[in-house]
Amino acid sequence: MTVKILCKDYGFECEYFLEGRKSISLIKELRKHFDSEHGIDYSEEALIQMLVNHGHSRDSIRNE
Ligand SMILES: [Zn+2]
Repeated sequence: MTVKILCKDYGFECEYFLEGRKSISLIKELRKHFDSEHGIDYSEEALIQMLVNHGHSRDSIRNE
């Protein structure tokens, strides 16, 4: 399943978005962006939790 993750949905005034298959590697891309552009080094687990809070199930992130 493809998802679109908009940075601004996660509390930043930023036009960056990621689109792709929901997966850990997408999480890693997002993590890189938060770190390099916003100076926040979220853990992978914290990012998974953020997606879960936006209605994605934990299993769907790990398995798709
Ligand atoms: Zn951003």
